[in-house]
Amino acid sequence: MPDLAQALAAADRQFEGARERLFDLVRIPSISTDPAHAADCERAARKLVDDLGGLGFSASVRPTAGRPMVVAHHGPKASGKKVPHFLFYGHYDVQPADPLDLWKTPPFEPVLRTDKDGVSRMYGRGTADDKGQLMTFVEAARAWLAAGELPVRVTFLLEGEEESGSPSLIPFLKANKEELSCDAAFVCDTNMWDARTPAITTRLRGLVHEEVTVTGPRVDLHSGMYGGPAMNPIRALSRLIAALHDRNGRVTIPGFYDGVAELPKATRKQWQALKFSESRFMREIGLKAPAGEWGRGVLEQIWARPTAEVNGIWGGYTGAGTKTVLPSKAHAKFTFRLVGKQDPKKILRSFQAFARAQMPVDCKIDFSGRGGGNPATEIPEDNPFIGRSAAALKDEFGRAAVLMGSGGSIPICRYFKDILGMDSILVGFGLGDDAIHSPNEKYDLESFRRGIRSWVRIMAALAR
Ligand SMILES: [Zn+2]
Repeated sequence: MPDLAQALAAADRQFEGARERLFDLVRIPSISTDPAHAADCERAARKLVDDLGGLGFSASVRPTAGRPMVVAHHGPKASGKKVPHFLFYGHYDVQPADPLDLWKTPPFEPVLRTDKDGVSRMYGRGTADDKGQLMTFVEAARAWLAAGELPVRVTFLLEGEEESGSPSLIPFLKANKEELSCDAAFVCDTNMWDARTPAITTRLRGLVHEEVTVTGPRVDLHSGMYGGPAMNPIRALSRLIAALHDRNGRVTIPGFYDGVAELPKATRKQWQALKFSESRFMREIGLKAPAGEWGRGVLEQIWARPTAEVNGIWGGYTGAGTKTVLPSKAHAKFTFRLVGKQDPKKILRSFQAFARAQMPVDCKIDFSGRGGGNPATEIPEDNPFIGRSAAALKDEFGRAAVLMGSGGSIPICRYFKDILGMDSILVGFGLGDDAIHSPNEKYDLESFRRGIRSWVRIMAALAR
């Protein structure tokens, strides 16, 4: 195996070319959600396959019912000893660029610009999400190959439908289970803590959703003729919603917190050391006081605690003017963010039982029958690949990698676990203000460079 210093030197030497190759990829408007760009998605997939094939990968464009996948394999020459095998996942499709008139330069004509703060940034749709990020590991492989050979077996899985819900991914993983099952997956589509502090995302919240209809009287009634004796279902629904949390912001559904663990001490300490400004976070959204569980910080509330939210409520008359209606029905949509070992089926059942128990005698509550969801994904922080990746990141940045959470979900991690039986390590080099999905998407040139060098180091660390 060539040594790490040679591979890092190759990465630096090739960096100008790496940026040009990223720009070539950004020039292809591979918008997956718009059928008018299907051929562009094909073109982007083909370009990646040609590029990886040129590096010596066995690479192919793999058709699906939607946009194609790119799969590529490469590894060190057989040496008799078992070489570990890792999957690297990214996506080459992008979000639509609308509204076009808000872009300072055209979205698919990438430019490198030094902004007023002195930072050089690449502008264009996909420069960060996820073309820039996926090119960090492609370029790291290029650096190793320039220095000799890859330190581990590498499989790239580059998807073309991530921005439109990944409809082909589950069938593709099932059909190619053997080919794609590795020791672990690395997913490069998340952020650093900040431009100087690397991060590994180890916690992703799960999600349960449900919609309810509360029915009171048989038909809509006149509030003058019936108001008083007739139960109003909006009142019953409001009472249910108000009962979901106690005065300390804690969810009151019995059994809701089963499977929710307290933060490990070391994690709590690391998060406290981030000096995250809660007041600034709240101010930026026009608020003052965190509304989650009392006594827990904002980061903990988002990364490590479950929630119950009402996302919409409707019923009766909502048009212009007044209508003295006493409605027959009221509706609401609910979602629950899950953490730890909370069981989505059990949460749904507990919510339904809780909601039924809140109903007065003359209201009945119906559930959509489509309620359900996914559990949280938590990679144990003592997972050896997390430890090695964190050490490699520290070598590159000179600072410890933050093991952070993400309040949202990244479904691919669950699919990799459930279908291919492997954990996902989420190492990303984005920044919170990259404006992914917005006009003027951008990516720090320095983050791109550090990302490439970090993967060079991580690949070496994985070989040990
Ligand atoms: Zn993405």
